[in-house]
Amino acid sequence: MEQYSTKQRRLLLNFLSKNADIQFSVDDISEKLSEKKISKSAVYRNINKMADEGIVERFIVEGSKKLLYQYIGDDECLAHLHLKCGICGTITHADFNITGDITKAASCAGFTLDRRRTMLFGVCSSCGDEKKTERSGKHI
Ligand SMILES: [Zn+2]
Ligand SMILES: [Zn+2]
Repeated sequence: MEQYSTKQRRLLLNFLSKNADIQFSVDDISEKLSEKKISKSAVYRNINKMADEGIVERFIVEGSKKLLYQYIGDDECLAHLHLKCGICGTITHADFNITGDITKAASCAGFTLDRRRTMLFGVCSSCGDEKKTERSGKHI
């Protein structure tokens, strides 16, 4: 039994880390992994454990009780910062240039950043585009 759940966890981790830029609901994940024979309740149990461990970020969709999950953490994610959209909640894994610049700026102030816990807030490109479209729409 223990081995079985470890296998499920590995499967789930593998799937999430390959899709680290996408947010999924438990339904989405169990659908995508349906051929792997991992049950919805197993997905639910495992992913919430990962959220508690800080490997996965949990979001609540505004105006609903729907939960979405996105992969944010493993050793690779420790090497860069994360940018979080204040509108849709999507997390972008910052590239090493951004991370390097910010880490450098912080260290100039004698400050060591905790990359795992540092999140930069703003508006993602797709939410930004939507706003632009809205604005130009009003112009016309
Ligand atoms: Zn990352
Ligand atoms: Zn967004």
